[in-house]
Amino acid sequence: MQRLRASKARWHRSAIGGGTWGAALALLVTVALQAAGAAGSAGTTALPTLTTIQKVRSLKPDQAMRRYPVRVKAVVTYFDPVAPDMFLQDASGAVWVKWSPGLPKPSIGSVVELEGVTTFSDFAPDIGNPRWTVVGRAPMPAPKRVTYEQMASTSEDSQWVEVEGIVRQAEYLHRSGNERVLWMDLAIAGGRIDLAIPWDGTPTPTRLVDARIRVNGVCGAEFSAKDQLVGVQLYVPSLDNISILEPAEPYPFNEPTTPVGRLQRYGFHSSIGHRVKLAGQVTASLPGQGFYMADDSGSLYVASRQGIALSPGDRIETLGFIGLADSHVRLEDAVTRKTGDGPEPPAKSITVEQAMSGEYDSELVALRGSVVGAGSFRRNETLLVQQKQAVFSISLPPTMKELPAEGSLVEASGICVNDVDALGRVNAVRLVARSPRDLKVLRTPSWLTARYAANVVGLLAAAIAVVMAWVLVLRRRVSYQTRVISQKLEQEENLKKAAEMASRAKSEFVANMSHEIRTPMNAILGFTDLLLGTPIDNDQEDYLKTIQFSSQALLRILNDILDFEKIEAGGLRLESAPFSIRNCAEIALQVIEPEAARKGLAISLRVEKGVPDAVRGDPHRLHQVLLNLLGNALKFTERGSIVLTVGLRERTASDAEFQFTVADTGIGIPPEAQNRIFESFQQVDGSTTRKYGGTGLGLAICTRLVHLFSGAIWVESEVGAGSKFRFTAWFHLDNRSEGPPFEKESGTREDSSATCLLSSG
Ligand code: ADP
Repeated sequence: MQRLRASKARWHRSAIGGGTWGAALALLVTVALQAAGAAGSAGTTALPTLTTIQKVRSLKPDQAMRRYPVRVKAVVTYFDPVAPDMFLQDASGAVWVKWSPGLPKPSIGSVVELEGVTTFSDFAPDIGNPRWTVVGRAPMPAPKRVTYEQMASTSEDSQWVEVEGIVRQAEYLHRSGNERVLWMDLAIAGGRIDLAIPWDGTPTPTRLVDARIRVNGVCGAEFSAKDQLVGVQLYVPSLDNISILEPAEPYPFNEPTTPVGRLQRYGFHSSIGHRVKLAGQVTASLPGQGFYMADDSGSLYVASRQGIALSPGDRIETLGFIGLADSHVRLEDAVTRKTGDGPEPPAKSITVEQAMSGEYDSELVALRGSVVGAGSFRRNETLLVQQKQAVFSISLPPTMKELPAEGSLVEASGICVNDVDALGRVNAVRLVARSPRDLKVLRTPSWLTARYAANVVGLLAAAIAVVMAWVLVLRRRVSYQTRVISQKLEQEENLKKAAEMASRAKSEFVANMSHEIRTPMNAILGFTDLLLGTPIDNDQEDYLKTIQFSSQALLRILNDILDFEKIEAGGLRLESAPFSIRNCAEIALQVIEPEAARKGLAISLRVEKGVPDAVRGDPHRLHQVLLNLLGNALKFTERGSIVLTVGLRERTASDAEFQFTVADTGIGIPPEAQNRIFESFQQVDGSTTRKYGGTGLGLAICTRLVHLFSGAIWVESEVGAGSKFRFTAWFHLDNRSEGPPFEKESGTREDSSATCLLSSG
């Protein structure tokens, strides 16, 4: 079918005539035409009429396109309305005529007087717009005996020629509708040509296959879509133009069988030999293309379009022509018949080295190796397999779903195909597997392949690089942060030193100032006392008492500030003197007694059982704490009682921890203020100062003093029900003597206590 694609013979003008006679004639015609052209340009447009086919064929393309009138007398050598193809030949040459449906159909052998114009379709001059009258009949021109080379050179295009050869195939091919053409493949000396014969309605002349024939027809050529010459074609008007020189064997399958091995031993195989008969077993079937077969003497490929269903193991007889393709001897255009079934033939296990010897070409073999690669080629998956140092490929059928992984050890059976160079040397080995069953995976690859290891190492290296980079970045950040932190610490240290210096300076200033103020204050108080002892009237006494009250309040504040600053600055050292706990508590109570009596409050002291009395420590500071708490109790209690309790919490051989509680029935302290009041300058709320006076320093001083006693201070209170201030204090037990009873020291603290009581009043 493919071979009939080109419907018309075309060729190169330079090839026309083929000889010196033709060239001389062409020159003459060209000169005549140029003369005619010159005449036309001088005033007449008439082109000379061409009266021989040779004149038409001699035109150059642009000349042919000028539509020279043509009038020739010639015989019709070929007509096929389907292509459509019409050829004429006269004594000077032959030409293709552009016939189109609507024109009468000429009959072959008619002599016509044909008129038309020159034209140039494709690349040869032709005759277009044909009109003709049949003037008689003539025998066909004497055919020219031509060789394959002459035909292939296109020098005989459109000529009535004669060739001899052996028919390889004959078959009717459908073209359009009912139109068919008998196509024959003819092997002639030097090559193969196609015969195209319009259908005469008879059955396929299969008797012609393998017959040696002589045939007459119009020589043409086949062109590809790119106008490249792809074959030689002979347009044969009818089967009558074929004469059988040697008929084919009437019963070819009865002929003796040729051993396969003998075919393969031929060095050169003529393409015009007759068919041979082979018999053997199918080793592989390639549906639509052919099959591989083997007999005892060898194996080979049988190309066939017959479409017979065969499977490995089938016993067959086949008739075909010996051919060569890629340096491989094969049987072509084969007709095969199945003569029996058989078990699938075993594949011979060989090495790649053996396969490379060429000895196993086309044989069913088995090869082993490990997979080194895979790819796809012409829809077939191809595996690259390595056996020792040699590599071979396996063509897998398209039905193969999953390919073995790289590194797998596989055994494949199939047809061994040697890739052979022009000198017959084997370049490569390809194994054609027939079905997925032909590939067996013997061992899957170890997970630790070189590639895997390389990948892992690569990944590790990348990870290490990233980590290193990260560590580097971190180190930089850390050293930067360390620098920043040490700078800040340095700054803070400087600030702290500065703050401490400022604080010390402030404390010194405050202490100095307080001291400086206290001296004149004492003078004011002293002289006020003296003045109160002189005769004065009532108003004057009132004024003096106000002065005395205000001065005492001021002095108390000064004393508090001085104490606080002294403790804060770490300048307060506790003394260690023997004293009585009970005595110290009693004295504190005595101080508030007058004011309590005035307010109608009951005061009492409770010393729990087992509380040791003789201790060694600082009685004045204990007195100060007790007096502060009792003073506050007195200040914030309007009715009820104030009770001072002394208890023992813990005792060792040398020391004891005492717990003192000052309980009142006063206004109480809200829970949210209970912690805050122990801080300096903190009171329950802003109204306290207005109503009760005070600086908010008393409890802060108590807290610090209690800490010096290694104790703690806290409050339990309920608003409206009263408060219990408790603190603990460690003192050395003084077992040697009871020591001197504690007496109130005349000095700042006593003054401050007294002032406190006075201010409450
Ligand atoms: P000051 O009494 O000079 O204001 P303190 O530090 O001694 O300073 O007391 C702080 C505050 O604690 C007082 O202002 C008062 O609001 C509250 N407070 C102290 N003791 C009592 C108490 N026994 N009852 C009620 N409130 C008290």
